[in-house]
Amino acid sequence: MKNKKTLVIIGGGISGCVAALFAAKKNYDVHLIDKETKLGGILKDVAQKDDIYFRACQYINPEASWYKEIPFKELDLQEFSHEKGTYTDIFDEISLERNIAGPSTSEKFSPEIRTSDKIHDLNFVDRIEFYPKKIQNKIRKWFMSFNIDINKLSGKSATPFAVGRIFFRGDIKKIKLLKEKSKTLDDLLGLKRDEMNLGNINASLPNNGFDEFFLKFNSILLQNKVKISLGTIAKPIWDHKTLKLLVKGKEIKPDKIIWTGNPTGLIKSFGYPLLESLHIKSKDIFFELNDKVKENIYIQIYSSKHPISRIFFYNLKNKGKVTIETLASEINNDEIIEFTKKIIKSFNYTYKVKENTLISNNQKKYILISKKDDELIRKFIQETEGSNLIHGNWLEHGRDQKIDFLIRNLN
Ligand SMILES: Cc1cc2nc3c(=O)[nH]c(=O)nc-3n(C[C@H](O)[C@H](O)[C@H](O)COP(=O)(O)OP(=O)(O)OC[C@H]3O[C@@H](n4cnc5c(N)ncnc54)[C@H](O)[C@@H]3O)c2cc1C
Repeated sequence: MKNKKTLVIIGGGISGCVAALFAAKKNYDVHLIDKETKLGGILKDVAQKDDIYFRACQYINPEASWYKEIPFKELDLQEFSHEKGTYTDIFDEISLERNIAGPSTSEKFSPEIRTSDKIHDLNFVDRIEFYPKKIQNKIRKWFMSFNIDINKLSGKSATPFAVGRIFFRGDIKKIKLLKEKSKTLDDLLGLKRDEMNLGNINASLPNNGFDEFFLKFNSILLQNKVKISLGTIAKPIWDHKTLKLLVKGKEIKPDKIIWTGNPTGLIKSFGYPLLESLHIKSKDIFFELNDKVKENIYIQIYSSKHPISRIFFYNLKNKGKVTIETLASEINNDEIIEFTKKIIKSFNYTYKVKENTLISNNQKKYILISKKDDELIRKFIQETEGSNLIHGNWLEHGRDQKIDFLIRNLN
């Protein structure tokens, strides 16, 4: 019998786990490696005071092509309607909206249509220059409040910072026409799905948290003969254009290597400079509600007064819970809770914060990409093309783009 092709996957987050399952089914001999002691990557739960919380609002998309191939019944996922909202005060007016998750303004949009521009290759400043001056300045000011210099940013930072599309709510008919007319403007302008005559979409989350989901995923991978090494660091070594790995003192040379984890060490080992790896230090807040929530929903926040990026209401293990993601490490808990109570009221919910359940967690968020890193990563990808490395589609933020890319490259 022909020998199986060997594949090593660096990173046991969702991308690495799904790729490992696909590869095993395609008859690869798969070895999954993660430096942490459990699978899950960025999705790992926040566990404190004998309770767990979702670290952030990270919905799994049941419409994703890869979703249908994973045994989600075994993984105990709940599906529900994808509900979202937005609170915006950075444009000198307060706006609260449902069914959209971008900054919202009553300003008019008057574009100089530059349809020839490829929006995906633009840097952040060029990107926001499509918007009216007043909007540009407010966005600039909002970023400055977090000490972020937008001149340094790649356009790829817009999506993770949730400013990819701005909602000009006073101009719906015109915006709809513009979105139909130009792909570039479609990528810059937000509209609610019903305004685009699109139906509702669903989202999915594990009923008992991501840690349990990944424990089950671990068993499924083992059943599919995937070798898993946790708490293990793989050192990259380049032999011209062939990537080898030093794992537990042993050099290995697999047919293919998927690198889903942070690529800093990998790129440096190729003789390139160190990535800048822009990040934000934040303190996130978690608490329980007195009741279960009626619907899972996240509210995206754009505020010049509160450094909050998102408030996520959800049920987990039969309890109503809230995760507040922030963009700052020095925060005033009381002010954040007071603001959250206002949001609860504005959306006509009657939830109350359950006493003595509040916890917080410090995090470094890698949700910004500098122009320099963008260029370096693109160059690295280009130069290693044709090698045994399958890169982790690191410049894309979305999970589905990353996973689809890996699966395509395993064919
Ligand atoms: C706050 C937030 C919200 C998001 N929301 C969404 C969303 O709603 N929808 C969406 O599509 N995307 C979202 N994303 C992006 C999404 O999380 C990522 O695209 C993707 O899910 C990350 O999964 P991953 O497996 O690729 O990487 P990770 O989860 O980061 O996993 C990488 C793993 O690699 C390991 N690793 C790294 N280096 C090494 C090494 N040298 N050796 C061994 N192991 C190593 C790490 O320990 C880690 O476990 C969000 C991201 C953030 C930060």
